[in-house]
Amino acid sequence: MGIYEMMAEYAGGGTAGPIVQWHMIRDNGTTALCGVRLDPAAEKVSDEAWGHTREKFCHTCGALYLRQVP
Ligand SMILES: [Zn+2]
Repeated sequence: MGIYEMMAEYAGGGTAGPIVQWHMIRDNGTTALCGVRLDPAAEKVSDEAWGHTREKFCHTCGALYLRQVP
């Protein structure tokens, strides 16, 4: 059982653009559960924010997260 956090994906890559969607990462990694590589400088928030963000959440990450977290 790892530590899960949400990490932002930005429009145009990098961290300058607006947030497109949130992914879930595990154990302080930068590759999302769905396989997308995220910028190490991207904003991170607790997985408790899941479902409470203004931006959408990656559907694949959501499905995998629900399966991995009891
Ligand atoms: Zn994802």
